[in-house]
Amino acid sequence: MPVIDGPWNPRCEGCGRFTSYDADYYIPFGGPCDFEPPDPVYMCPRCREESRRLDRQRGRPHDNWVPSKLDREIAEEFGYALAKYPRNGWSIWKKKGEPLPEGMVWSAEEDKKLMEAMGLTASTEGKP
Ligand SMILES: [Zn+2]
Repeated sequence: MPVIDGPWNPRCEGCGRFTSYDADYYIPFGGPCDFEPPDPVYMCPRCREESRRLDRQRGRPHDNWVPSKLDREIAEEFGYALAKYPRNGWSIWKKKGEPLPEGMVWSAEEDKKLMEAMGLTASTEGKP
């Protein structure tokens, strides 16, 4: 559980020091007995780098309901992409180039199909 003393003082999950809302965070998956969605978990820059060191030893990003920027950086570094079951609201990291479990799809492809179905174009290349 993150410790938050009031609305503007998030604390780092690792060391307990105050950190800013600009600090990197993730939101973990909740459990079936949770009454509310889990709170964001913040990481101060120092603990984030320690986390990066451990993630590099592990060689894969952590699966979180809302991945941190660090999770995305580790995924990029080790060749992982988000995958999910169609129309699911959450994704998990899977190694690019390896076959997905039965019924799973790459999240980016699913999102593109949904955007096209809504008549929108999924442009990530900064086209005008
Ligand atoms: Zn910290």
